[in-house]
Amino acid sequence: MIVTRFAPSPTGRLHLGHAYSAILAHDRARAAGGRFLLRIEDIDGTRSRPEHVETIIADLAWLGLSWDGEVVHQSSRLPAYAAALDRLRDMGLLYRCYCTRAEIAAASLSAPHGAEPLYPGTCRSLAEQHSDRPHCWRLDMVRAVQAAGPLHWRDHGQTIAADPLSAGDVVLARKDAPASYHLAVTIDDAWQGVTDVVRGQDLFAATHVHRLLQALLGLPTPAYHHHALLTGPDGVRLAKRHGAPALADLRERGADGLALAAQLRAGRVPIGTGDP
Ligand code: GLU
Ligand code: ZN
Repeated sequence: MIVTRFAPSPTGRLHLGHAYSAILAHDRARAAGGRFLLRIEDIDGTRSRPEHVETIIADLAWLGLSWDGEVVHQSSRLPAYAAALDRLRDMGLLYRCYCTRAEIAAASLSAPHGAEPLYPGTCRSLAEQHSDRPHCWRLDMVRAVQAAGPLHWRDHGQTIAADPLSAGDVVLARKDAPASYHLAVTIDDAWQGVTDVVRGQDLFAATHVHRLLQALLGLPTPAYHHHALLTGPDGVRLAKRHGAPALADLRERGADGLALAAQLRAGRVPIGTGDP
């Protein structure tokens, strides 16, 4: 059975791009008689807000989307992430990193505009470990790739060769959050039995890392369907558009959520539906 999910982070209000992604994931499951799940990715305790969770749930209902089973909150899943970290640590694939953001930025070769600088590996082979100093845990990517061997995934029915090395030594647990997005999303997609991950093209690069983590942790690989991001008539990404209304703004102004969903399904970007 096909199982898809929508997995928003409750760090702000949802926009049209989120609506589009949720509709695609929902419809893919419903068309196949499968299940559509809702997962709240609230591991970032400093940025996640309960009021955003309520707003997200109201937005989805307004769009006419229904989900199956209980809503899973990642904040209730921390023991599972800790167990996976232990396993990777036992495999000798993790190390402590004490660097601050500023130190990493200064030590990195100039990163492409807007991209996170690649971690330069400063702490990879430190002889002394200080568990009392603030630190995150990074994946030793070269070792991890060697341990896993060549990997692939299916995306829109095509075979993609995973290239996790290009992500560098990613963070798997942070000083202020017990698991990173990469770790939590990989574990939960497997735990919830997700067969088909439908999400925006902006997360395509992350899939290289997720595929590697699946291999290291012995988890199944879902099929992926990275979809194009919504753009306005001028080609500017909606998420980046200044002043693009949040779904909740439209809803509160009395806009018709079902009509909006129908437009998105028809591939029309309803800019200007801000007015009911
Ligand atoms: N929680 C992530 C986000 O907001 C999406 C996770 C995913 O679809 O893999 O954007
Ligand atoms: Zn470091």
